[in-house]
Amino acid sequence: MSRIPRIVILGAGYGGIVTALRLQKQLNYNEADVTLVNKHDYHYITTHLHMPAAGTDKPDNARVNILKLIDEFKIDFVKSTVVQIRPHDKKVILEEGVLSYDYLVVGLGGEPETFGIPGLKEYAMNIRSINSVRLIREHIEYQFAKFKREPSRTEALTFVVGGAGFTGIEFVGELADRVPELCREFDVDPELVKIYNVEAAPTALPGFDPELVEYAMDVLKKKGVTFKIGVAIKECTPEGVLLATGEEIRTNTVVWTGGIRGNRMLEEAGFETMRGRIKVDEHLRAPGHDNIYVIGDCSIVMNPEGRPYPPTAQISIQQAEVCAHNLVASIRGDQLKTFEYQSKGTVASLGRGEAIGIVGTKKVKGGAAALMKKLIDLRYLYIIGGLPLVIRKGKF
Ligand SMILES: Cc1cc2nc3c(=O)[nH]c(=O)nc-3n(C[C@H](O)[C@H](O)[C@H](O)COP(=O)(O)OP(=O)(O)OC[C@H]3O[C@@H](n4cnc5c(N)ncnc54)[C@H](O)[C@@H]3O)c2cc1C
Repeated sequence: MSRIPRIVILGAGYGGIVTALRLQKQLNYNEADVTLVNKHDYHYITTHLHMPAAGTDKPDNARVNILKLIDEFKIDFVKSTVVQIRPHDKKVILEEGVLSYDYLVVGLGGEPETFGIPGLKEYAMNIRSINSVRLIREHIEYQFAKFKREPSRTEALTFVVGGAGFTGIEFVGELADRVPELCREFDVDPELVKIYNVEAAPTALPGFDPELVEYAMDVLKKKGVTFKIGVAIKECTPEGVLLATGEEIRTNTVVWTGGIRGNRMLEEAGFETMRGRIKVDEHLRAPGHDNIYVIGDCSIVMNPEGRPYPPTAQISIQQAEVCAHNLVASIRGDQLKTFEYQSKGTVASLGRGEAIGIVGTKKVKGGAAALMKKLIDLRYLYIIGGLPLVIRKGKF
């Protein structure tokens, strides 16, 4: 390779943007051409999306213009949608053009996994992007307006959230906070509003500390959430959801948060995948492709017990740091780093002023956990945009 190596990064989510920023810092001029491709000209803070979805925050607060984060003298930004990856030609096909690469970083994030449940794809909404949460927010407000025109149609005021994992729990917490405000705005009796959180697993927040799960459910029940735990959604229809128990919940609003899979483009490109995600090697490369790094929700990293770590922003950021190091090391002929996940803990918001979490080995709940969540968010803003971004977008 006598010319300057070309690095192409697909996706400017947690994995992609942190890789780009690290390369920007670590590479010398003329060591590599780095191109970042993303379908929007902004990076969105996915871990905030449950708030604009419920309408407790503005969508704009969950996004940052990419050109405000990167140095355009060092990173080329291409706003386009990736439509195909061709590993054997070392090319990526975009909606507008083709990019060739020597090294590729795939950070395209995940897609909702519907587990083949009929109707979910067609009738349920998802919390995945700025545009998807705008739709949910507008839809919820429209249901209140609709009810005022047809007060007999109480299904307009019934909201079903499929999945009581982190996203589902965080969203019902926000939605329960938004309901009193909407009731005031539309002159609606709060007693008529129903929020159901349906989960097929035997517990909410599967895998999380049982004492904290109980605390979370108590907080959310007091805010008006009805849980249906250990109950699968069998079908989603234009009229509502059918549950495995035979019960039907009539609703115009189903938000599905029950699962994530990798991006379908990876299967189409011929990579071996598990639910669309690539089990990467210890250096975060796709097996058999020493020049292709896969990070974030598109990748699978196994824990010491041989089970996949859950896809999170936290692991995506740590992968991005190692991925950037390994790209620089490959170019310079240095030794690659092995990826080892260091869990810094997990905190889930339960709406205004309430959260639960594990930080190190310590359990936190209530206001202290909510404060912790804020600090985690501020830390991320600092990582990608320094103090100016913390001041501009941070919530104090
Ligand atoms: C509501 C919610 C709350 C969450 N809370 C937490 C939390 O508290 N803590 C935590 O650690 N994790 C949390 N997560 C999970 C976390 O957000 C994801 O694991 C993380 O975003 C994955 O990062 P990523 O870089 O793989 O993908 P993403 O952040 O999803 O980014 C993917 C990027 O690729 C772009 N893209 C996708 N397809 C294309 C294409 N074809 N062409 C061009 N660009 C494309 C997208 O626009 C996006 O910018 C939460 C997720 C949600 C939905």
